[in-house]
Amino acid sequence: MPSIGLGVFQTPPHETRTAVEAALATGYRHVDTAAAYGNEREVGDALRAAGMARDEVFIETKIWISDYGYNQTLHGFEKSAAKLGVDRIDLLILHQALPSAFEKTLQAYRALESLLDQGKVRAIGVSNFMVDHLTALLEKATVVPAVNQIELHPYFQQRAVQTFGAEHGILTQAWSPIGGITFYRNGSHGSTLEDPVIGGIARAHGKSPAQVMLRWHLQRGRSVIPKSTKPHRIAENFDVFDFDLTGSELAAIDALDTDQRGGPEPTEITLESFGREIPEA
Ligand code: NDP
Repeated sequence: MPSIGLGVFQTPPHETRTAVEAALATGYRHVDTAAAYGNEREVGDALRAAGMARDEVFIETKIWISDYGYNQTLHGFEKSAAKLGVDRIDLLILHQALPSAFEKTLQAYRALESLLDQGKVRAIGVSNFMVDHLTALLEKATVVPAVNQIELHPYFQQRAVQTFGAEHGILTQAWSPIGGITFYRNGSHGSTLEDPVIGGIARAHGKSPAQVMLRWHLQRGRSVIPKSTKPHRIAENFDVFDFDLTGSELAAIDALDTDQRGGPEPTEITLESFGREIPEA
């Protein structure tokens, strides 16, 4: 899996094709979408328009909680694959744990294991799984999730989840890697883009705050999926391979953790409050 992918959460369908095309032109070879984002079809349109061989681009998508359950999740794969216009998905993950209906979550994961077994997906994983959810999953799973995609930026680093992942061979993938959730949700802890420590490091390297945060993730061994709809930012977020942060700069960013989550609390996700129908292809 390429270490940097383009995220498309909140990218409206009519802007998705342009954003993905800009990313592919820049050099991205990985896109992270989700059934719940409503733009899988437009991601597929962009991939076809770029005319690239299927195995040149890594496609990651997510099954929404309303499609959990063994058969429902198998069908969820069919819906996503058809919208994306592909036979095989590179990485298919469960979008959230359903703590109050964990048996359903396990059935959904068993469906991912079957899809893996059948070669319909190349890898499987999870998202927003906390240590308790991962522990319960590993008790029943036959395949260790390749990836756990979690909220992770300088102001919220989830060290216990990262450590658990590292101990079990689960790659941590950072969502809101440049802290999007800290500013687009009007978070109480301000914008990571305006953080003085990050700004100082950025000036020292002649880079932007976003580039410094992405570099920090990569040097800490994480996968990142920054989102932008703007070609110049899409390019900026990919231009992070020509500098290195020092050990003390990495440590200074590690020290910015506020332990305050910006996104929904994963233990409180229920079908009643977050369920919604994912349309057929
Ligand atoms: P990001 O940290 O990627 O930040 C995105 C925000 O930053 C947007 O407002 C974007 O605006 C802006 N931006 C992007 N690049 C720059 C830049 N170089 N300088 C300044 N501003 C910039 O947050 P997201 O929450 O979007 O997370 C990224 C991806 O993670 C999502 O798209 C999705 O794929 C995934 N995700 C997964 C979740 C999950 O539950 N599994 C939850 C949330 C996200 P603009 O577009 O106008 O440039």
